[in-house]
Amino acid sequence: MSAEFEAVIGLEVHCQLATDSKIFCSCPARPPGGVSVSELPPNANTCPVCAGHPGALPVLNRKAVDHALRAGLALGCQINRTHVFARKNYFYPDLPKGYQISQYDRPLCEDGRLAIQAGDQSREIRIQRIHMEEDAGKSVHSAQSTAVNLNRAGVPLIEIVSHPDLRTAEEAGTYLRALHGIVTWLGISDGNMQEGNFRCDANVSVRPKGSPVLGTRAEVKNVNSFRFVEKAIEHEISRQTAILRSGGKVLQETRGYDPDRDVTVSLRSKEEAQDYRYFPEPDLLPVELSEAWIEEVRRALPELPAQRRARYVAELGLSPYDAGVLTSSAGLVEFFERTVALGASAKPVANFLTGEVARRLNDEGIEIGQSRLTPTHLAELVMLVQAGQVSSTGAKQALGVAWQTGHAMATIVDREGLRQVSDLGELERWVDEVWAANPGQAAELRSGKDKLLGFFTGQVMKKSGGKANPALIQELIRKKVTS
Ligand code: ADP
Ligand code: MG
Ligand code: ZN
Repeated sequence: MSAEFEAVIGLEVHCQLATDSKIFCSCPARPPGGVSVSELPPNANTCPVCAGHPGALPVLNRKAVDHALRAGLALGCQINRTHVFARKNYFYPDLPKGYQISQYDRPLCEDGRLAIQAGDQSREIRIQRIHMEEDAGKSVHSAQSTAVNLNRAGVPLIEIVSHPDLRTAEEAGTYLRALHGIVTWLGISDGNMQEGNFRCDANVSVRPKGSPVLGTRAEVKNVNSFRFVEKAIEHEISRQTAILRSGGKVLQETRGYDPDRDVTVSLRSKEEAQDYRYFPEPDLLPVELSEAWIEEVRRALPELPAQRRARYVAELGLSPYDAGVLTSSAGLVEFFERTVALGASAKPVANFLTGEVARRLNDEGIEIGQSRLTPTHLAELVMLVQAGQVSSTGAKQALGVAWQTGHAMATIVDREGLRQVSDLGELERWVDEVWAANPGQAAELRSGKDKLLGFFTGQVMKKSGGKANPALIQELIRKKVTS
């Protein structure tokens, strides 16, 4: 990005709702046993409704509305007490009805916001609308033919559409992560990006800095990792900036991101854009939400990540950074709460989680729930450190072993010889021996050469095989100097 241009970005996020059945029929949206819809045999998960047989009638899944409503309330939206499903007409083989049931001019939610955190700065991104819709199936291409798999057709989605308030790829990534954090926190989506259960279209334009009008945008479709969204946007910004700088015009078009080459490629231009001929879905009545239903969902909302973060800073004295990392994931925050509930102090627990533990999760690309480490491990470890029984270096080592093996913390600490010796009798004996063996240095220390304190501590640590409690050793050496 150069000084004379600025980027403008708006995201459309599709998020699969975690309901048991599809949005308009009773086919499973999440088959039992942890199998994903895409792993089932092709078209095994269909019925006349989601396969689009003529005459089959849709029936709205109440749970899907409930989930969508939770999202809308958590994101501060206005709720339309009457919302209307609409037909979005386009012909594509993975949509056998010839239209998608979506929402158009009367979506469930409008005018929301999400605060994102950049360092210590907070910025509010406005949300235009959240509407409900059904997912389409998948076309499966081979050399000879194309087949259609409708297992996913009719899976409930919400689409969360932001205003074009984002200005950098990094900011878009932060917004997307925050949104992902909220839907998983609320439990309304599993947020699984590999499965495409949380994916994003990025609208990107570039304009002269300070210009009040928006530039022509390109829409990069269906990006399904945080990193790829950031890269696709970065690429789009430099592509468009180069066009504008050379006096050219950006075309309004739909593009795709190719992660192997790290470029976006044109899929179709504005001229080929569809006229969706939206009209109200005649097979579904407008949905009327009672005030009581909305209030019930509102009351049941959990404390949201931003509120929790502020509370951790104010009440537990955590740093904004640590509080931010913990509240970025429902799994991490639950782990933190459970560890503290076992009696460990909040700050050291937060330090372990945002440091050593976050690093390991990141390296292995897993969620905390998938690791062997338990709140019991961490609580015991933190208490051992605070009691002076394990040093901070020893604690890192113990955590590593617990991570690998899942063995009980007390066993690990003993077996690895990580328990510090804090027994005064034993420590005094070591100090005396070292003192007697180094009379020259002892005299110098007595005469005020404080640097030698480190030398004596090191010698005693060595004698103890690294197990002596260094704070206690120093205390004992000081006593010797003054005695
Ligand atoms: P469509 O549904 O055809 O994609 P919308 O007007 O609903 O079009 O816009 C969709 C998204 O595009 C929104 O997130 C919006 O913020 C974003 N957007 C609209 N115009 C621009 C623009 N000029 N530059 C960047 N983003 C834009
Ligand atoms: Mg769009
Ligand atoms: Zn079905």
